[in-house]
Amino acid sequence: MKTGFTSEQLADPATAASEKAIRTCVHCGFCTATCPTYVLLGDERDSPRGRIVLIKEMLEKNQAPTPEVVTHIDRCLSCLACTTTCPSGVDYMHLIDHARVHVEETHKRSFADRTLRWALAKILPYPSRFSAALHLGRLASPLAGLTAKLPGGRRIAALLRTARGARPSTAKLEGASATGARRGRVILQGGCVEPVMRPEFQAATARLLTRCGYDVVRASNEGCCGSLVHHMGREKEALAFVRHSVDVWSAAIEAGDVDAIIITVSGCGTTIKDYGFLLRNDPDYAARAARISALAKDISEFLTPGLLPASKANPKMRVAYHAACSLQHGQKITSQPKQLLEQAGFEVATPVNAHLCCGSAGVYSVLQPEIADELGDRKTASLDALNAGVIATGNVGCAVQISARTGTPVVHIAELLDWATGGPAPKALAESRKQR
Ligand code: SF4
Ligand code: SF4
Repeated sequence: MKTGFTSEQLADPATAASEKAIRTCVHCGFCTATCPTYVLLGDERDSPRGRIVLIKEMLEKNQAPTPEVVTHIDRCLSCLACTTTCPSGVDYMHLIDHARVHVEETHKRSFADRTLRWALAKILPYPSRFSAALHLGRLASPLAGLTAKLPGGRRIAALLRTARGARPSTAKLEGASATGARRGRVILQGGCVEPVMRPEFQAATARLLTRCGYDVVRASNEGCCGSLVHHMGREKEALAFVRHSVDVWSAAIEAGDVDAIIITVSGCGTTIKDYGFLLRNDPDYAARAARISALAKDISEFLTPGLLPASKANPKMRVAYHAACSLQHGQKITSQPKQLLEQAGFEVATPVNAHLCCGSAGVYSVLQPEIADELGDRKTASLDALNAGVIATGNVGCAVQISARTGTPVVHIAELLDWATGGPAPKALAESRKQR
């Protein structure tokens, strides 16, 4: 696509990167068929190709976008399905990230929108605040139905529904020593939302890693990886989280050899693997950030089939595997989770339209509840159609989004691998069996 940026504009590294991405797009439209918002809404402006045109015009003019442009940029899930489909290799991820920052810096949102976004940014990345908010939300959750009927109330209803089933945890994240033959040492990322919503995911991962021969360490004073605010275009806050993470992980690396930084939330993983890009122009951080990105590994990527211990139990269970977008499109990790589950003795089934997002997408399910609900319902129906005993995924947001819509227990892949190799049954599965 031809662009018309001035040389002054191209002196800005972010604009130069965006211009390159826009120029790479040949307008072929292959991406439209795999874009969830285009599939749902059928509007070219809600397709990757249409958004690229809107972003190009917005950045070239270097002015505040119109409310219409903001609507179509806001509706993008950042699911990155378009990057899997695009034959030209358009770097849509950094383009939409840049567009969100531009919107945030130049557009004045409504008071209600600003307030909600501010509250999400000031609560979710902090486990103790998030935990307290969930407790309050649980008390108010009976009002979710009523709230949804008020003008603009669906966003609050989405928050209350999330809080309804939550049992927030404030348990301390622990490290552990390798059992059996020691292979090495890994850092297990703590993060912010997962330890509060599903602490069992990391507990299972730690057990599994120690059984594979790894000492599991926790970086002291770790915080949010920055992903949540990054996807809202709040660049200053996001980069502060990124720099803090680079500092604490670098300190843990200096304290002893580290084979990998293990991540159990694929949404975080996509951002952490991008730290090198995000801090590429910061001379104090660029090299260390690139090192952190190189060490970052999703648990299903780190556990090669040769590392996984032999199965002790054979649960002979059919697993519906939900591939999180951040894993399959963001990190291009597609076959490994299924291979590991099959090696552990599970029968793995995948739903139709597995490439389409479940609608969770960080804070998207709160900010765009209409689209998120429709995508969540479609995804859950396709998973339920597989008649599996359990649904497995690698991202806490997907687990929360899907478990709110199905009676089938939703667990992390690591919980199933832990169970098959000597650990306890996954918590959600054990609870659903007890209820029956
Ligand atoms: S990131 Fe997802 S929602 Fe956004 S344009 Fe690409 S495919 Fe569509
Ligand atoms: S598939 Fe790639 S090149 Fe084709 S329109 Fe979409 S983004 Fe542009």
